[in-house]
Amino acid sequence: MTTPAFEIVVIGGGIHGVGVAQAAVAEGYSALLLERQALGSGTSSRSSKLIHGGLRYLESAQFGLVRESLHEREILLRNAPELVRRVSFYIPVYSSTRRPPWMIRAGLSLYALLGGFSRYARFESVPRTHWKNLDGLDTRRLRAVFRYEDAQTDDTLLTQAVMRSAQTLGAELRCPGNFLSATRDETGFQVHYLDNRGEQICHTKSLVNAAGPWANAVLDRISPRPPILTVDLVQGAHILVEGDTYHGVYYVEAPSDGRAVFVMPWKGNTLIGTTETSYDGDPGAVRARPEEIAYLQETWQHYFPHSRGRLLDSFAGLRVLPQGSRSVFHRSRETVLYPDDADRMRLITVYGGKLTGYRATAAKVMSLLRPSLPARTAVADTTKLNLSL
Ligand SMILES: Cc1cc2nc3c(=O)[nH]c(=O)nc-3n(C[C@H](O)[C@H](O)[C@H](O)COP(=O)(O)OP(=O)(O)OC[C@H]3O[C@@H](n4cnc5c(N)ncnc54)[C@H](O)[C@@H]3O)c2cc1C
Repeated sequence: MTTPAFEIVVIGGGIHGVGVAQAAVAEGYSALLLERQALGSGTSSRSSKLIHGGLRYLESAQFGLVRESLHEREILLRNAPELVRRVSFYIPVYSSTRRPPWMIRAGLSLYALLGGFSRYARFESVPRTHWKNLDGLDTRRLRAVFRYEDAQTDDTLLTQAVMRSAQTLGAELRCPGNFLSATRDETGFQVHYLDNRGEQICHTKSLVNAAGPWANAVLDRISPRPPILTVDLVQGAHILVEGDTYHGVYYVEAPSDGRAVFVMPWKGNTLIGTTETSYDGDPGAVRARPEEIAYLQETWQHYFPHSRGRLLDSFAGLRVLPQGSRSVFHRSRETVLYPDDADRMRLITVYGGKLTGYRATAAKVMSLLRPSLPARTAVADTTKLNLSL
């Protein structure tokens, strides 16, 4: 029996893996995606579910990331109207808020500039007379409320939709498909994986490691062993509490440490997140810790003092951040694309990144791999492919 051959094998069915699979087949390549558990079962179902530029990244001068994310947000709003919807964001400013109104105004002006000053990039100051309508937001010592627009999605459904789009163009999916090992040869890699039928072998010209927090565990199984980027895993927790937040997303400062926390409507209830806690255990065992749950509950009740909704659920995901001397909060959230060989790339590892920017990331992965692949004629343009439920 001949060994099945692909041009690209992708390990990991999170948003980055499915994005690369879609980009690969859109460019006319054959692609196989291996997902061990379920599509989106890793970080891509534990995010804050925002399709946004990331207003807070302006504080750490990540202007390129914000501009790209705002551009990608518009593409997603156009291509995936059933999955991505515009939502109002409110920033309340109290006498105790660390960022004064002028700073928020300056940040929102820059955000609007990076968003191309489109109709939706504008922001406004909410008139005092409307404050009482804001979901029970505490109005004592409130100095100003700003409103702007970003977007929300269902991260798991978005991941599944991108995979369906890739499959429509010919991508193959093995789920469960557990990557076991790969050995580099003259023309690419011999890949071993486990699916429902048992251990399988295929050949691929190139390999994309999109295993999120498991990325370095995957690299450990490739021989010869490729270079590895040392990363920190930082967990972010969310809680789901009973009761809806009708007007949109509230962007508040945690009273204890001033970190930005979102209070968001989520399927008829309220989602609150997130935290930043170092993590060095098994990525599959990440859970919201009791102190994180308490921190998020306190933040919520501080701003919405009459809210008494029951805790319905909690979950945590892992950010993958290249090691560095800066604090986690100020560390770059840019995706790092790490190749095996600077001259002839056949393996790319995706570290970090944003749900919002998955399509742009996938396009960059393809640009890096293209010189090692045969020329192909593109069959589709991912900026125009519709994504539906
Ligand atoms: C708390 C938190 C909040 C966030 N909020 C936002 C937000 O609001 N907006 C935004 O744009 N971004 C957000 N992000 C970032 C975004 O969620 C992540 O960048 C993105 O989901 C990472 O996707 P991924 O595909 O790289 O990894 P993952 O989603 O983790 O996917 C990796 C996949 O690899 C699979 N896998 C692992 N090992 C193997 C193997 N041996 N064989 C086969 N498969 C394997 C896993 O099962 C998993 O499904 C947030 C991140 C965190 C942590």
